[in-house]
Amino acid sequence: MNLILLGPPGAGKGTQAKRLEERHGLVQLSTGDMLRAQVASGSPLGLKAKEIMQAGKLVPDDVMIAMIADRISQPDCARGFILDGFPRTVPQAEALDRMLTEKGLKLDQVIEMKVDDAALVDRITGRFTCARCGRGYHDRFNRPKDDGVCDACGGTEFTRRADDNAETVSTRLAAYHAQTAPILPYYRERGVLREVDGMAEIDVVTEQIEALLAGR
Ligand code: ADP
Ligand code: ADP
Ligand code: ZN
Repeated sequence: MNLILLGPPGAGKGTQAKRLEERHGLVQLSTGDMLRAQVASGSPLGLKAKEIMQAGKLVPDDVMIAMIADRISQPDCARGFILDGFPRTVPQAEALDRMLTEKGLKLDQVIEMKVDDAALVDRITGRFTCARCGRGYHDRFNRPKDDGVCDACGGTEFTRRADDNAETVSTRLAAYHAQTAPILPYYRERGVLREVDGMAEIDVVTEQIEALLAGR
């Protein structure tokens, strides 16, 4: 099964992708995580991407298309994957179609997570992540069971993204509406677009996604 989780920054794509990974044995392909790994390693691509990401703009299509083409060619993706953060423009969606056709793969569902812009600002400014295992949390909506200790791995160090601040968020939301939202009709026409209410609680969103995958 190959899926796309599509939605604005902070919609809950990463949170739900991690759950799908655990329940269905799919691989999460987060282009944001891949870029952050490049930034952390100080690679030439990372150096270029860093400024663009800090500004809340999109990294050029050719870079992103090459990155995902390389990733979906790796053997673990044969189990099925969840794209989280890609495609983000119509040219990326078209390139993905070509890649999948070449590999004899198909896209099963594109799941749009709908969340109001006002809620996204709260979600993004309260987001933090376990430094050891990458589990995501929120200051108010999704705290670890024991304060300061990761539920998943017991880690006690957490990180916050440099671009998760109120100023950058507005540029990221504008980029979503101008460049990413036009992908929705592209997938709607192909009959693969589904939607869930991303404003619901995390567990409820998971149930909605499970229902879609089960064809309910
Ligand atoms: P995305 O990957 O789409 O940017 P995340 O999964 O990182 O979004 O979620 C953004 C923030 O909102 C995180 O801090 C996460 O814990 C929290 N969050 C995710 N889903 C929900 C939800 N349904 N309700 C409230 N908070 C949520
Ligand atoms: P979010 O969790 O807020 O949806 P991501 O972690 O997916 O954000 O992406 C962080 C940043 O990385 C984006 O603001 C953008 O600069 C860059 N990025 C990630 N994926 C893509 C992509 N497919 N195309 C262009 N830029 C991307
Ligand atoms: Zn952890």
